[in-house]
Amino acid sequence: PLESRQAASGSMVLDTVREYTKKYPLCVLLIQVGDFYELYESHATHYAAQLDLKLTKKDMATGVTVDFAGFPLRSLDRYLDMLVNRLGCRVALCEQHGTATRDDGSVMGKRRRVTRIITPGTVIEERFLDAISSNYLLAVLPSTTFGKKNDDDDNDDDYEVGLAWIDLSVGEFVLQQSRLQAFKDDVARIRPREVILPTWMKPRTGGGGGGGGDSHPIMQSLGQDPSIAITYQGDATFDSQKGHELLESIISTPDATKQDDVDHSFEKEEEAVLSDGLDVAAAVALLHYIDSTHMGERPRLQRPVRFSPEAMLRIDSAAMGSLELVRSLKDGRRADSLLGTIDCTITSAGSRLLTTWLTSPLTSMGRINTRLDIVDFFASEPNILGSIRRTLHLSTDAQRALQRLAVRRGQRSDLVEISSTFEAIRSLQHQMASVFSAQPLGRYTSAVKKLFKTLDPHQDLVDFIQSAVNPDWIPDKERERAYGYVNRNFNPELKKLHRRLDQLESERDRITSELKAMCGNSVNLVSQGPYKHIVELNASQAAKLTSVYSCTLVNKTKSKHRYQTDFWTPLSVQIETHQNLLVEMERQVFEQVVQRVLDHSSTVLDSCKSMAQLDVLTSFAWLSRERRYVRPTLSLANQTTIVGGRHPVVEAHLARKGREFVKNDLNLGQDQSVWLLTGPNMGGKSTFLRQNAVIVLLAHIGCFVPAKYADIGITDRIFSRVGASDNLAQDQSTFMVEMVETATILQQATARSMVIMDEVGRGTSTTDGFSLAYAILYDLCSRIGCRTLFATHYHELARELDNKEHSAFDKIKCFMTSLHESEDGSFIFLHHVQPGVCTQSHGLKVAQLAGLPPSVVHMAQGMWAHLNQTGSMSPKPYSIYSKQKDDHEKDVFI
Ligand code: ADP
Repeated sequence: PLESRQAASGSMVLDTVREYTKKYPLCVLLIQVGDFYELYESHATHYAAQLDLKLTKKDMATGVTVDFAGFPLRSLDRYLDMLVNRLGCRVALCEQHGTATRDDGSVMGKRRRVTRIITPGTVIEERFLDAISSNYLLAVLPSTTFGKKNDDDDNDDDYEVGLAWIDLSVGEFVLQQSRLQAFKDDVARIRPREVILPTWMKPRTGGGGGGGGDSHPIMQSLGQDPSIAITYQGDATFDSQKGHELLESIISTPDATKQDDVDHSFEKEEEAVLSDGLDVAAAVALLHYIDSTHMGERPRLQRPVRFSPEAMLRIDSAAMGSLELVRSLKDGRRADSLLGTIDCTITSAGSRLLTTWLTSPLTSMGRINTRLDIVDFFASEPNILGSIRRTLHLSTDAQRALQRLAVRRGQRSDLVEISSTFEAIRSLQHQMASVFSAQPLGRYTSAVKKLFKTLDPHQDLVDFIQSAVNPDWIPDKERERAYGYVNRNFNPELKKLHRRLDQLESERDRITSELKAMCGNSVNLVSQGPYKHIVELNASQAAKLTSVYSCTLVNKTKSKHRYQTDFWTPLSVQIETHQNLLVEMERQVFEQVVQRVLDHSSTVLDSCKSMAQLDVLTSFAWLSRERRYVRPTLSLANQTTIVGGRHPVVEAHLARKGREFVKNDLNLGQDQSVWLLTGPNMGGKSTFLRQNAVIVLLAHIGCFVPAKYADIGITDRIFSRVGASDNLAQDQSTFMVEMVETATILQQATARSMVIMDEVGRGTSTTDGFSLAYAILYDLCSRIGCRTLFATHYHELARELDNKEHSAFDKIKCFMTSLHESEDGSFIFLHHVQPGVCTQSHGLKVAQLAGLPPSVVHMAQGMWAHLNQTGSMSPKPYSIYSKQKDDHEKDVFI
């Protein structure tokens, strides 16, 4: 009876749940039961509320009642998105496949198995991914195991760390041999969604064993970011020797179509050497993980490239945050960051590439100049620029489409996406052909030519896709097994099949009209549904049919009669058979086209990459025209001269309010390596500091800069100690964080670095802070000699720095921002940086502006006057001091 069958299948479900819960202890198990995905036991108890599902009890077998929640199959995407993206969970998807039967042939229930594990770092479905962000899965392997260090590492606080990361959605694969001290900066740069660590690093609760645990510095760097999912994987999988073969077999997918003598990429990346290093071991662990989550369908990976920090302008994590490169400090939004402000790219791949460029700027003058040449070319050719950007709109995210095809999760639309992208490339080539053939060639044409050489339109491939795919096909949602997606003339068999089906269908149409004439319009020749291959008509008309033809009654309701007939039933079966044949044949054609695309995958990807580069470079050109950015000149001198500089984000923000940004100059070099900046709160010090760092950075990615003129000496690192820090969660006081960051700067900055420091020493007593600032400044200009912008409240520093005993201080020049005060007591900030020292902090005025009650302001003013009269605090009020000894020499009265 039904009841016992239900109990049997209930206990089967429960067995499956328990088996897979044990096998995948870290996953949320979604198990398909008929038209639903269901969660059972602890999975239901923990996640029902978070997923907004109703938690109920379900009887699974006699006397066994468990917690249960579920949702319909069609809502899977929504719940996966919540689980994986919002809650950072791993999900094991357990799907039905076939029916389990007993020996006697009776049905026991559905068979089920886990078909895929979905984790934040391994999703490749477009609908779970942010189009404009890369989705990195990172594996990390430090050279210490169980507290023991590698013999090669003699430095206690710093040792090697192997990194390997992959964006599965495009197959990008990168290795880096890093060090512990740089790890935090690496994570800030890579911004992984998921990190794989060896099990020994797992924090242990309670006593015993292992040297890793929660105190491991790697864990500390990772632990703060809730957006990173951490996964531990068996230590044995981090094995470069054992995994070597695996690695080679996966990545050396030879591409028959690739010729080595042809330039495939415009900016060549250095291929990684697959030695026995920690980075390779991390890469092997990554591959294990991908295999275990994708269950055999391995995504296509590009050959791993090496990330060499030495070839990059390095930005430490503090600078990455305070310069708001990729997200704003206030609310973490991309839109308000530097990236969001300068991102005028058109394609998603362009947007992702811009993020990579911005977080790893170049230091090779040659490479930067090549980028700048291309930007320059397009900036001076507005018509070409416009038409290229319009064409870029026609391309789609072919990189991700290719990857979906590779893991057999592709759809027909993915082929169309790839072909339209290459159509766009062909159109781009066409537009540029006349430019390249013009004589004499315009300035910088050769750099542009070099880029276009790597944009291969893959004409044969596109022709093949187009010969196969019917462009007018619209999926028929009514019919489950739709066909018609492939051009009917694609091959002779298909053509023949279509022709035969056409004949059968016209036979059907003929019979339909004959019957309608005979029995009225209610006649229907049915070929699908619960009663298929039958003639259906109104009961009142039935006799007209049965009196002429031999009919077998199949079903009868009050209004309808349904019959099998000799003239329709066999014909309908034939039509169905032919339709099924067509569906199958089209599936084969689809596979054939996909295979052809995959055979070209590496050159397809190369062209996609060049397309992304073209997108970014033309977006820079567009920026330069729209926002008046200029080409920076680069040099190898430790010199930075900026005339009329602006902060791109603040400028854009002010522009929205209809306000002008006040431009400012900077001149840092050998003889003036430090600018000491004083001025009232809100005066624009911090903006000035950041804008110069940002301009230097933009120059290093090959972008024009917001200034009238900029001459930038190649910089190896940018450090920033600005604004409130985000480390408070780590139990460090603001002052401690400030000192840790300052220590990093003093340890790591070189003569080629740029340092910006804001209000260092603010977090402690005036005497402490003052003394520290003094000594830090001395170290920066006497020992390191890096280009430094130092904003401070301690205007008295300027006087102390005039100390003739320390000639190093001669390199310090004093500048200030000021405000204009009217006779009626009102004032405005001028935001203008000029030589001099501002001796007043104007704290009371800012407080007044901020809306402190007048009575409080008044009382503070009284106290202020009293203190100044008695001289009990701070050096002489209204003291007038100027350190400038040049033509600007003047006393500054405020
Ligand atoms: P400080 O560091 O001196 O306290 P900020 O740099 O934070 O001052 O600047 C405060 C505000 O002043 C900014 O948010 C911005 O709106 C405005 N501001 C700063 N610099 C400029 C400028 N050069 N032109 C116009 N407005 C500016």
